[in-house]
Amino acid sequence: MDLDISEHEKLKEVEEFAVSKVRKRASEIDDLATFPSDLVREMGSIGVFSFYIPRKYGGLAFSLNSLMESIRIISRECASTSLIPDVTISLFGEPILKYGSEFLKRKYLSKIAKGTIGALAITEPGAGSDAAAIKTTASKKGAGYVLNGGKTFITNGDEAEFYLASAVTSPEKKHHGITLFALDREMDGLSIGNEFKKMGIRGTSTTEVLLDNVEVDKEQIVGNLDEGFKIEMDTLNLGRIGIASQAIGISEGAIRDVIRFNEELGGINGENKQFRLADMVNQLHSSVAKYNESIHYAQTGKEATLMSSLSKLQAGDSAVQITSDAISLLGYHAMSEEYPLERRFREAKITQIYEGTNEIQRMIIAREILKKGMPSF
Ligand SMILES: Cc1cc2nc3c(=O)[nH]c(=O)nc-3n(C[C@H](O)[C@H](O)[C@H](O)COP(=O)(O)OP(=O)(O)OC[C@H]3O[C@@H](n4cnc5c(N)ncnc54)[C@H](O)[C@@H]3O)c2cc1C
Repeated sequence: MDLDISEHEKLKEVEEFAVSKVRKRASEIDDLATFPSDLVREMGSIGVFSFYIPRKYGGLAFSLNSLMESIRIISRECASTSLIPDVTISLFGEPILKYGSEFLKRKYLSKIAKGTIGALAITEPGAGSDAAAIKTTASKKGAGYVLNGGKTFITNGDEAEFYLASAVTSPEKKHHGITLFALDREMDGLSIGNEFKKMGIRGTSTTEVLLDNVEVDKEQIVGNLDEGFKIEMDTLNLGRIGIASQAIGISEGAIRDVIRFNEELGGINGENKQFRLADMVNQLHSSVAKYNESIHYAQTGKEATLMSSLSKLQAGDSAVQITSDAISLLGYHAMSEEYPLERRFREAKITQIYEGTNEIQRMIIAREILKKGMPSF
C-alpha cells in the first residue's frame, strides 16, 4: 500500500496506542457497555480524527489508505473504539467534505478533526435497508426548514455533537425528494431517545435521534435540495470500506489469538485443525486484497460502488466465519479474557448488518454487473 513516511510514522503511533491502551480496556468496555471517552480523547490528540481532513480545515491531509489502516489497527483490539472515529469521518465528515458548502466545511471539519464526534442518521423504524422509505419530513418555513420525525439505531447517537439527518422534502419525487441536513446537538427540538443494548460493539452509543419541530437554515443543507439520497449512497461507498477495514481488523485479532494460544498452550496440531487455520488465513487474505482494491477504486472514482460492496461483503462474511472457526479451535479458552474470541465473534456479526446488510451488498453487486457488464478487475 502506498503511504508516505509521515503516514507510516503516524500509523506506528496508532498501533502503539492500540496495543498499549486499547487492548487492556477492550474487555471492560464490552462487559460494562462503557463508551470509551478517555480513548476517544486520546485518538483526538494522536490525530486519528484528522487523518483524512484537508490541512485547510485543520487536518493532516493523509490518504484514504491511512484513515482505513488506522481503523483496521484499532479494530484488532476493540471494534467499539474504532467505530467512533470511523463513523465520524466516513459518514459525517466525508459527505460534508465532498458535497458541503464552504460554510459547512468551515463550521464542522476543523471540529471533527480535533475529535468532536459526528453521526449519520438515516435509519428509521421501517426504513433500514430501504433508506428511501423514511417518514421524517422537512417542511419549508420562511428561508429555512422545519424537521419532524425520528431516527433509530444511530451510532454515536448520544455522544455526537453533530448529525447529518435525511428528511423528505419533495414527497412526490420519492427517493429523488430526500435532502440531507447538518444538525447540531444543541438545536431546539433535537433530542436523544432510547439507547439500545447490543450483542456487540457494546461500547458505542446506539440511540434514537428524535426531531420535533427542529428549525434549520437552508445553509444547513448538504449538497442540493432533493439530492440527499444520492449523497447517502455515495457516502456509503466509503463507509463500506470502513466496515471492511473493521471486519479485517477483527479477523486479524482472531487469528492472532489462535497463534498466541498455540504458542502459549499448544493444541493447534493435526491436519484438521491446521487446515481450518489455513482456510481462515486464506479468507483473510481475500478480504485484504479486495479491501486494498476498493481503496484504490475509491481514490480513482472508478467502479467505487461495485468494489466497496464486494469488499464489505467479503470482509464481513469472512470475519464471521474466521471468528467462529477460531472459537471452535480454542474450545472453552475462547470464552476467556485472555483469548477474547466470543467478543470478536459478536463484533464481527454486526459488520454483516450495518451500512447495508450483506444481502443488500449482493443486490448492489448483481445490479452493477448487469447494468455495466463485467469490469476488467
Ligand atoms: C449496531 C448498529 C449500528 C447502526 N448504526 C447506524 C447509523 O449510524 N446510522 C443509520 O442510519 N443506521 C444505522 N444502523 C442501521 C442499519 O443501517 C440497518 O440495521 C440496516 O440498514 C438494515 O436495516 P434493518 O435493520 O431495518 O433490517 P431490514 O431492512 O428490515 O432487513 C432485515 C433482513 O431482510 C433482508 N432484506 C431486506 N431487504 C431485502 C431485499 N430487498 N432483498 C433481500 N434481502 C433483504 C436484510 O438483508 C436483513 O437480513 C445501525 C444498525 C446497527 C445494528
